[in-house]
Amino acid sequence: MALPSPTDPLDVRLDSLLALLGGASDADYVGEPVSQLAHALQAAAAAAAHEPWDPELVLAALLHDIGHLAPGVPQMQGLGARDHERIGRAILRRAGLGSRIQHLVAGHVDAKRYLVATDAAYDAELSPASRATLALQGGPMSPDEILAFEADPDGDAILALRRCDEAAKVPGQSVPGLGHYRPLLRHHLELEAARAPADSDS
Ligand code: FE
Repeated sequence: MALPSPTDPLDVRLDSLLALLGGASDADYVGEPVSQLAHALQAAAAAAAHEPWDPELVLAALLHDIGHLAPGVPQMQGLGARDHERIGRAILRRAGLGSRIQHLVAGHVDAKRYLVATDAAYDAELSPASRATLALQGGPMSPDEILAFEADPDGDAILALRRCDEAAKVPGQSVPGLGHYRPLLRHHLELEAARAPADSDS
């Protein structure tokens, strides 16, 4: 499976991202009872129901775990790719997605570390697999890390993404398929290409 390259035409990058997700229909989602593809689609559907409508949140939710799907990345003891959020950000940058989506995806593990440290109800509901990865991801945030997270202007969107992530582990849930998001993703890539042609050429 080829990763998207910044020099690829828009449609090639689009197809490459969708192929990574589409190829994950029978990929185990690190100890959860749904496939990676089902998890991505459920997360995107949850984000689409979020108010106000935030198309970048929807795309971030769809793509938030794409770092688990990159070939050849180091694994955490059967619990997925180490640093998958940063690998995901790098894949999305190469594919030409905007900086905010990259930032949301990169932050979705820190959001778990923030919520575990600040929200007892969230901590109590964490799935066993998510709790197992938490320890490998740095554990609950320190007070200084909490302050830094709360200063992030996109903190609320990152937390919303995390809630969508947690909600997206329901076996057999009926949600729109991958093709449903193709126009939204294509539109976003077009906007980014028009906004920063110098960046995408470099
Ligand atoms: Fe996830």
